[in-house]
Amino acid sequence: MEAIQMVDLKRQYQKIKPQIDAAIAEVIDSTAFIGGPAVKAFARELEQYLDVKHVIPCANGTDALQIALMALGLQPGDEVITPSFTFIATVEVVALLQLKPVFVEVDPRTYTLDPESVRKAITPRTKAIIPVHLYGQSAPMHELLEIANEHNIPLVEDNAQAIGGYYTFPDGSRKANGTMGTVGTTSFFPSKNLGCYGDGGAMFTNDDALAERLYMVANHGQKVRYYHELVGCNSRLDSIQAAVLRVKLAELDQYCDARRAAADYYDSAFAAHPLITTPYRAPYSHHVFHQYTLQLDKVDRNEVQKRLADKGIPSMIYYPVPSHKQKMFEALGGNDYVLEITDYLNQRVLSLPIHTELTDEELNFITTSLIEIVNELAG
Ligand SMILES: *Cc1c(COP(=O)(O)O)cnc(C)c1O
Repeated sequence: MEAIQMVDLKRQYQKIKPQIDAAIAEVIDSTAFIGGPAVKAFARELEQYLDVKHVIPCANGTDALQIALMALGLQPGDEVITPSFTFIATVEVVALLQLKPVFVEVDPRTYTLDPESVRKAITPRTKAIIPVHLYGQSAPMHELLEIANEHNIPLVEDNAQAIGGYYTFPDGSRKANGTMGTVGTTSFFPSKNLGCYGDGGAMFTNDDALAERLYMVANHGQKVRYYHELVGCNSRLDSIQAAVLRVKLAELDQYCDARRAAADYYDSAFAAHPLITTPYRAPYSHHVFHQYTLQLDKVDRNEVQKRLADKGIPSMIYYPVPSHKQKMFEALGGNDYVLEITDYLNQRVLSLPIHTELTDEELNFITTSLIEIVNELAG
C-alpha cells in the first residue's frame, strides 16, 4: 500500500495527465498567460454547470469573499454575521475591511449556521450574513434566505468547501451551493473539491448589476481599461489555472461521487461504534464531503491522532482554534464571545483522509485502525 494522504492529488493527476498536460501546453504556446481565452471559457462552463448567470473568476477564495463584501458597498462599522466555526478567511476579510464580525453559533449536527442564532444577532447595523457550506454540507439556506429577505440583508455564501453540492428546497427544487444567496464565493485551492494547480477563486451571482461591480472591484475598479470608477483591487485567475480547471470541471461530479462513496464506507464501518459520531447528512443537502469529520467521545483526541500517525494514517483537526478565540480578534472583542456549541465541537472533531482516489484497502485499514485505537484508549 502506498502512503495514505489526507488529499491525494498525485494519483488524481495521473488519471487525467494527458488532458492536463495538453491544456497547460496550449496556454504556454499561446502566451496568453493572463485573461486568455481559457479564463473566459472556464467561467462560461462553470456558469452552465452551476446554472448561474455570472461567474467572475479571481485570484483565490479569500479575495472572492473580500471582493464580494466590497462590491456590496459595505462601510466600516457595518455588522456582518458569520459563524466562528469556519476557516479564518471567512472572518478575516470582514475585519480587514473594518467591518464588525458578529460571531454566531452553528448547528451541532451540521456544523453550519444556526438560523435561530442568526435571528437573535440581527441589529439595524447588520449589512450581510455569511453562511459557510462547511465540510461539503449546505447551510440551511431555506431558513437563512427567509431571514435575509425579511430584513433585506444580503447573503454571501462561502462555498469554498462545497462546490458540486446542491440544496433541495421544500418544494423539491434544487439549486447549486453558492447560487442561492446574493453572491457566492469559492476557492480553487488545490485540495478543494474543484482545485487547480496553484491559487484560484471565483464569485457567482444572478444579479447583473452586482456582477458588473464584482468584475470591476476585481479589476482595479475599471470597466474600461484605464478608467477607474471605484477603488478595487487586482485579483485574477491566471490562464494556466483556468485551463487546468476546465479539465477538472468535467470530472467534478465523478469526484463528488468518489468522495461520497468513501464517506459511505466510513459511515457504515463506524455506525455501531458508541464513541464515534459520524457526520450527519442534512436531508436538504447533497453532501460532497470536502472533509469527513467525525466526533470522538471519551478519548484523548491527540493520542488518537498520534497513534493513527504511527500507523501512517494522517488526520486533521479543522480547525484547532475557533475564529472568535483567535488572537487576531482580541482587540476587536471577538474573544469576549461565549459560543458553547462551537467550543464543544472544537474539542471533539477529527477529520479523516478523504479524496477522490481512496481504495477499499485503504479505507479498510483506516477504519479498522481507528476502531482499534479508540477501543484501546477507552479501555
Ligand atoms: C479555503 C477556504 C477559503 C479561502 O480560500 P483560499 O483560496 O485559500 O483563499 C475561504 N473559506 C473557506 C471556508 C475555505 O475552506
